[in-house]
Amino acid sequence: MTHDVPLFLDGEFVTSNATRKIANINPASQLTLAHAPCATEVEINRAIASASAAFQEWRDVPPIDRARLLANYCQKLKSRQDEIAEVLSQETGKIFADAKGDVWRGIEVVEHACNIPSLLMGETLENVAPGIDTSTYSQPLGVCAGITPFNFPAMIPLWMYPMAIACGNTFVLKPSEQDPLTPLRMAEIFTECGFPKGILQVMHGDREQVDQIINHPDIRAISFVGSAKVGQHIYRTGTQNLKRVQCMTSAKNHMVVMPDADKDQVISHLVGASVGAAGQRCMAISVAVLVGDSQAWLDDLKTALQKVKPGAWNDDEAGFGPLISKAAKQRVLHLIEQGKQEGADCNLDGSDYNHPQFPEGNWVGPTLFSGVTADMQIYREEIFGPVLLVMFADSLDAALEIINANPNGNGTSLFTNSGGAARHFQHNVLVGQVGINLPIPVPSPYFSFTGWRNSFYGDQHAYGKQAVRFYTETKTVLSRWFHQGEEATGPNLTIQMR
Ligand code: NAD
Repeated sequence: MTHDVPLFLDGEFVTSNATRKIANINPASQLTLAHAPCATEVEINRAIASASAAFQEWRDVPPIDRARLLANYCQKLKSRQDEIAEVLSQETGKIFADAKGDVWRGIEVVEHACNIPSLLMGETLENVAPGIDTSTYSQPLGVCAGITPFNFPAMIPLWMYPMAIACGNTFVLKPSEQDPLTPLRMAEIFTECGFPKGILQVMHGDREQVDQIINHPDIRAISFVGSAKVGQHIYRTGTQNLKRVQCMTSAKNHMVVMPDADKDQVISHLVGASVGAAGQRCMAISVAVLVGDSQAWLDDLKTALQKVKPGAWNDDEAGFGPLISKAAKQRVLHLIEQGKQEGADCNLDGSDYNHPQFPEGNWVGPTLFSGVTADMQIYREEIFGPVLLVMFADSLDAALEIINANPNGNGTSLFTNSGGAARHFQHNVLVGQVGINLPIPVPSPYFSFTGWRNSFYGDQHAYGKQAVRFYTETKTVLSRWFHQGEEATGPNLTIQMR
């Protein structure tokens, strides 16, 4: 018998009164691991009320004390990284190395949040006018909410609540209904660190619960990571409700290959970046643009992709695991079929791949299309599967034109041995994260992570350095003081004060 995933409400793990529940299924074995409840309206209201009450005291806890609790959390997450990664592998199907990476990239954000006293420091200038000083302070907003996708169930929640909480806010997390056990395990560890009750709440569910959260008057800010369609809905609704909103969304990431690049390096990076994690990464390379003579490398690319075998989470030989769900597999198979019908050359077709031990799993093998054009559905849509598209271009500028015309702008990379080409590319490409001879340019948390066009909505940045600015309000104070009864005035003061 499977259990219901508890809600984390008002400092307690409680069984929801939900009547609607979503099965949490191992993507390889198809065994049901648990059921995620769709939290009731009453439960969500209680969670937000508890977070509002907790905020009144938490905002006054000195930043260094908040940092100490986060350091404690960070330490416990590190020492239990393998345990979290095992849960994560079970519910996402990720191979263990990828699962550990998922947890680790989240831990790095918690490490960064431990620097909160320095990160929150404002600016001061003495004597902006005679006798008048100005300081800015960063102050927390209140209750913030996070809505996260299935593909990084440790890292992406950890992008959000540690930083929001470090800034003095309280937080309501609505993780993906497809893998709720990883955020649950991280919440259990959170309770062991000494945080006051109500700082973090975890509510499970799907669109209905999201809509309640983003319409609730006491939610001050919303962080979302997921698909563009849902991100647009959340951005529109949240901002319509006059909330602060940031949405990191879909991607179609191109890697440009110049003929002067090292062929072996290109092929090995392209294989890992395209089909690694079954292509279910927002920074996966889904399009290779081969420039000039590098087009002759297509056969070698196919040979290298053919060698990658999907497999179970604990199989050291496996290159990647199954897709998250049956629906995701059907969608990817449909797009592969569509690519063939639209006239792209299917050089390698993983549609029929099956795993001997887990024949019911959501498997799709490495798939390669060439001769892809911008009007094809496989190019227009984010596939989110182990499918690499190859396009051809005559020059670096022609490749740049393709990338800059794409509706998404999350990540991109260029492989070349020319410094001039690299400088030209990084300056002219209209994409958030740019890698030079680096296939997946995900920045460390002390830099910001952004996206252009349909890959990001909002005017503040979601992760890393810029997150402090999102989760706080800046307050500027102009001060005037008196010394021994004498007002400090000067010729410009009257003008300044008008
Ligand atoms: P999704 O948009 O389907 O779901 C994300 C969250 O939104 C989930 O919590 C889900 O319950 C909720 N949701 C789903 N439909 C909703 C609706 N109609 N109304 C309100 N809420 C709804 O995304 P996913 O399939 O879980 O994740 C994959 C997507 O996330 C891909 O598009 C990928 O590119 C994107 N992603 C982006 C980044 C980034 O940094 N830009 C990072 C990771 C994933």
